[in-house]
Amino acid sequence: MATKRTPSFDSHNPATGEVAGTYPIMNAKQVSEIVAHARTASAQWQKLGFSARKKVLLSWSQVIINRIDQIAALISLETGKPVGDAKLEVSIAVGHIGWAARHAEEIMRTAYRAPGLLLSNMSATVQRSPLGVVGVIGPWNYPMFTPVGSITYALAAGNTVVFKPSEYTPGVGMWLEETFNEVAPFADVLTTITGLGETGGALCTSGVDKISFTGSTRTAKIVAAQCATTMTPVVLECGGKDPVIVAVDANLERAVDATIWSAMANAGQSCIGAERVYVDERVADKFVELAVQLATTIHAGAPGDGNYGPATMPSQIKVIQSHIKSAIKDGGTCAYGGPESVKPPFVQPVILLDVPEDSAAMREETFGPTIIINRVKSMREAIDLSNASSYGLGANVWSKRQGKKIAAELACGMVAINSTFSFAAVASVPFGGVKDSGYGRVHGPEGLLEYTYARTVVRTRFNVPLNLLSFKRKAKEEKLVITLTRWLKGRFG
Ligand code: NDP
Repeated sequence: MATKRTPSFDSHNPATGEVAGTYPIMNAKQVSEIVAHARTASAQWQKLGFSARKKVLLSWSQVIINRIDQIAALISLETGKPVGDAKLEVSIAVGHIGWAARHAEEIMRTAYRAPGLLLSNMSATVQRSPLGVVGVIGPWNYPMFTPVGSITYALAAGNTVVFKPSEYTPGVGMWLEETFNEVAPFADVLTTITGLGETGGALCTSGVDKISFTGSTRTAKIVAAQCATTMTPVVLECGGKDPVIVAVDANLERAVDATIWSAMANAGQSCIGAERVYVDERVADKFVELAVQLATTIHAGAPGDGNYGPATMPSQIKVIQSHIKSAIKDGGTCAYGGPESVKPPFVQPVILLDVPEDSAAMREETFGPTIIINRVKSMREAIDLSNASSYGLGANVWSKRQGKKIAAELACGMVAINSTFSFAAVASVPFGGVKDSGYGRVHGPEGLLEYTYARTVVRTRFNVPLNLLSFKRKAKEEKLVITLTRWLKGRFG
């Protein structure tokens, strides 16, 4: 008897095109069954309490550390990134697991608020409760670090999680579920579902209590629209066009080193990677000279060969190619590399100069190992051009004296002064953007609170003769309230 075949898809090694694994495409019915199981488990997971959950999460991080070679090899296989980069990604993810596990209780502790003068007979408190089941939709560029930044915080807060990894990195997603289940006290606390975009869509409308999405702005809008049909709240971590501002007093050697790494590492596939540089014209020639010097020493290649790997998602190559071409067509010049640097699946380093601000290469996210360096007359101009983007994820500022002043004027979610990427590794600070880069936050207390809801509890501590919320209220009591209002000028709340 013929059996109905389960639809499946393959993941690939992007360096060779070879099949890396085959995974089922889950349909809406399967997704909703998994979410139902996660919902049953959520009551039990919540009941466990903070310290038991902390133990589970710390045991999980230990399993991950013990198997760092295994997971780094899998990340490298599915993304094409060097194993060393994959290990760094795992290490940062482990830092987030530890931080969320250790701080959840303190962050969710009941807060006592001042009730105000007129209601001083009351106590006012805000309790925090987990939402229930959180759906996490992840990208392929950091297939461990990025989803773990949502999964761990949601779990630490007392939610169960259903995770849909990118179709390019399902193996890493399955590995996370399998290793978690080795230490989980019962099933269905963290479940990975596999499939294509439609499976992610099914998760959005499955009745989960929140979706935490990381990916492109284009898909984020679809996700938000899908979630709106079921009033499911969302956190959206999208792309960026991160600027680097280099002041006249910057340490140029360090600024160049960090900027070229930020732009080219991971094949430029970092949402917080440097895409455009605004350098003070007085130091611009030196900056460009050092940048080109450094670029000549790095190259793309398969893991074990290159400083960075191939484009993980083959379709991104077309975007990178079109941005290089439009930068040149619009009046920019190549200081290093050019259209010939694109040799699929690899893109060798490209440095472009003086590209007009209205070029697609300056406006749209390239997500490749390219960097544009433009000269500015002042830091005012650098700030204004940085803020003129439709994106607002991260930014880097290089200056010995003006770093904080410049940072305070940038319309973005995160700024690194005299460093790059650092805010992603500091677990205690929120990560996220503004404008087309999304809304909501992951990481830190703000990120953990995204997976909770506030319950306000106001309690009468003792009765007072003045009872305003009653039909028995007297005219003289109303008069007293007006007098008090005039006297306190709105300060009684
Ligand atoms: P996509 O937006 O294409 O995909 C992201 C995730 O959404 C994938 O798991 C994808 O599944 C899923 N998805 C696709 N269609 C739907 C749908 N209709 N409903 C629900 N889920 C869906 O992005 P990429 O994977 O291509 O990631 C690269 C982008 O992500 C870049 O633009 C980058 O800047 C951004 N990014 C942002 C980060 C941040 O923190 N702000 C971090 C990392 C990346 P499938 O793969 O199966 O199609």
